[in-house]
Amino acid sequence: MLKLIPLGGLGEIGLNMMAVEYGDTIFVIDAGLMFPEDYMLGVDYVIPDMDYLRQNRSRVSGVILTHAHEDHIGALPFLLRDINVPVFGTPFTLGVVRHKLEEHDLLASTAMHEVLPREHLKIGPFDIEFIRVNHSIVDGVGLAIRTPVGMVIHTGDFKMSHTTMDGMLTDVNRFAQCGEEGVLALLSDSTNVEKDGHTISSQEIGAELARITEAAKGRIIVALFASNIARIQQIVNIARTRGRKIIFNGRSIEVSVSIARKLGYLEIPESMEIDIDDLNSYLDDEIIMITTGSQGEPMSALSRMAAGTHKQIKIHPDDTVILSSKFIPGNEKAIGNIINNLYRQGADVVYEKISKIHVSGHAFREELRMMINLTKPRFSCPYTASTVTWCCTPAWRRTWAFPGET
Ligand SMILES: [Zn+2]
Repeated sequence: MLKLIPLGGLGEIGLNMMAVEYGDTIFVIDAGLMFPEDYMLGVDYVIPDMDYLRQNRSRVSGVILTHAHEDHIGALPFLLRDINVPVFGTPFTLGVVRHKLEEHDLLASTAMHEVLPREHLKIGPFDIEFIRVNHSIVDGVGLAIRTPVGMVIHTGDFKMSHTTMDGMLTDVNRFAQCGEEGVLALLSDSTNVEKDGHTISSQEIGAELARITEAAKGRIIVALFASNIARIQQIVNIARTRGRKIIFNGRSIEVSVSIARKLGYLEIPESMEIDIDDLNSYLDDEIIMITTGSQGEPMSALSRMAAGTHKQIKIHPDDTVILSSKFIPGNEKAIGNIINNLYRQGADVVYEKISKIHVSGHAFREELRMMINLTKPRFSCPYTASTVTWCCTPAWRRTWAFPGET
């Protein structure tokens, strides 16, 4: 009996974690957290219920990470603190994880193994193949898990974008080959199942960002997710064409940029990047700043700029602030406050609702359909962070079990 046991992430945003079990072997896919809702006073993080893994700790063989978003890796320190198992992931994912484990004082005690797309990993009766997927972070992978009862595909978070700055396209050939081989079950990202058609291309986003930059008279401040390396590269390229310098501001951006640069995933000419302390040596129209706080996080750089409490940056009336990310449900109020405060200080503010400056990292309906058609699974199970899944029934809370003969 093959068991797929979702420990979090179904019908909710965040907490992605799934145990895969056959005989005496269990491995875990992702270990994500969720940031607390407004009503969860005094709560810092919400993590999946890992009791099942604790009760079966001797059978847990490893954790495989699909990508480095917090809702897929954020709970890893809490798992490793209890159960010391090896961690497998792609170079950028492990780069982010290393930094996280260092903060939790777990780096020295954790075995980490780098994997690359199309490589295979053997864990007990499982053969796990990594397949490149495109997402709003570099180095994402899906998994083809060959088990004694058939192949299970776990897409990870993905979209089918064929134009991307990082060159990391979804490996449709490999997914199709898996389809030919025969797929028992497809566990697919379903976040954007409500959205018809395809995600817009990153070229369209680039064109819009370039248009805004060309029209801007003063500084441009772009707030985005620190891990969105492809978007950062896009902005760097625009800055280079317009002769603007780049400033990175915010701890998570600096960490993410440094990991991506080391791995060669981000190219920034040395002369283009300047230090925030040298800001005043340049004219306003010579600057693009990339910063954090696109979700209205109260202590973020953007939030402090909007409140007028940032040490080095005061908003100028000619500034253009671009929020190049999705408003995650639950954060709208905090983001709204920031937008209002920026307007009050005279800045022009551009965000998703009024301009095409963001594209989702999750497949829209036609892309989800394409994944199903490529892999031709016997069972299709939507698995990931979604406000509405394909089939909202309490059954999703149960274990999916596939007996050998079916
Ligand atoms: Zn993700």
